[in-house]
Amino acid sequence: MPINRSPFEMAQQQYEQALQYLSIDPGIAEIMRNPKRQLTVSLPIKMDDGTVKVFTGYRVQHSMACGPAKGGIRYHPDVTLDEVRALAMWMTWKCAVVDLPYGGGKGGIICDPKKLSKGELERLTRRYASEIACIIGPLTDVPAPDVNTTPQIMAWFMDTITMMGSASTTTSWPIVTGKPVEVGGSAGRDEATGRGVMITASAALHALGVPIEGARVVVQGFGNAGSVSAYLLEEQGATIVAMSDSQGAIYHPHGLPARDVMHYKARTGSVVGYPTSEAITNEQLLALPCEILIPAALENSITDENADTVQARVVAEAANGPTTPEADAILESKNIIVIPDILCNAGGVTVSYLEWVQDMQGYWWKRNEVNERLADIMTTAFHQVMTIAKERKVSLRLAAYIKAMTRVAKALELRGVFP
Ligand code: NAD
Repeated sequence: MPINRSPFEMAQQQYEQALQYLSIDPGIAEIMRNPKRQLTVSLPIKMDDGTVKVFTGYRVQHSMACGPAKGGIRYHPDVTLDEVRALAMWMTWKCAVVDLPYGGGKGGIICDPKKLSKGELERLTRRYASEIACIIGPLTDVPAPDVNTTPQIMAWFMDTITMMGSASTTTSWPIVTGKPVEVGGSAGRDEATGRGVMITASAALHALGVPIEGARVVVQGFGNAGSVSAYLLEEQGATIVAMSDSQGAIYHPHGLPARDVMHYKARTGSVVGYPTSEAITNEQLLALPCEILIPAALENSITDENADTVQARVVAEAANGPTTPEADAILESKNIIVIPDILCNAGGVTVSYLEWVQDMQGYWWKRNEVNERLADIMTTAFHQVMTIAKERKVSLRLAAYIKAMTRVAKALELRGVFP
């Protein structure tokens, strides 16, 4: 029987597991166990055909102990409050693992953006921004892109808050990150998540003594995070042998050119059918022998049902929550190194932080300066987590949680309980 667990149950299970390794005051632990604030909003939208449709949106702030809540906004038909709570909690740990001055938050709207016109998408975004404006702000909660949300959507979000006059600084740019560079975005944000995946996956292979040149890479979910990870690893000498999207998976033993597959997907809507590739199933993709497997789609893709088939040396979690706790145990028993999501995909929030810093200062860094800062932050965090894992003889996931939870608990303890 497969184990069905909601994302928030999974996030809490990971939390409880890590808690056993720490001596945190039970009251502080209870504060960290649950979200600080959750907002559900109804979003009536005038559709192009003249009808009114009501959508549901969420914004959850899990913690603000270390700074403003930070986390993306997801547009997907399967969004639930439970999922947004899990993603918000993971953001708290992610920001703490890479030492950003942020807490964790997340938002989402239940919708299928592929079925909305550009005008409908803009009205939905503007209404959502206006409904959650009461709990966001550059020093309160700073949203960002996630699945199906783009720099254009962030620009509409920023413009709406500006028009409402609720930004608490002279410029409304730092209200949201992941914006286009013309409206306060940062150079390098578009590639940041994939770059962080490339940096941590390369560091893990290096620690194993496996050369990156010729390393075989498999990517599940060839979207923003997955495709950038793929072409940056390719630039390091790796070979991308398979990739997939929601339509299916493709394979070639001698490699598929990542950028060209990206262009093909942009033209046709899917990686499926790419010339020279062989169509395979998602199960076959996960079971391919490779050095690096990158789950970059959604939660729960490596489970107790398929973890045993994984033949990778390293699983680099570009997606949030792709591996269930049971699958984690199976991968560990097979000596497969899992770079946990809260570390592996932290490149996105790290450059969001650099964007926010630039917006607050009105001073802009060049792409190479941003990339250097990102590489420094990610490499430092990776080695700190590796050191904890070795010292405590635990997995990288537990080590990352130990680092993150210690930091958040300390901040809560220092701040004390109000009133
Ligand atoms: P995206 O929408 O650009 O890409 C997701 C891809 O996954 C799409 O190509 C989609 O077709 C594919 N997909 C969906 N269901 C699939 C399935 N069942 N099998 C195979 N492929 C499937 O989204 P993204 O921004 O790249 O986000 C992907 C993951 O990375 C999410 O878990 C997200 O939370 C995480 N993440 C993204 C960022 C970021 O900056 N974009 C940062 C941190 C974490």
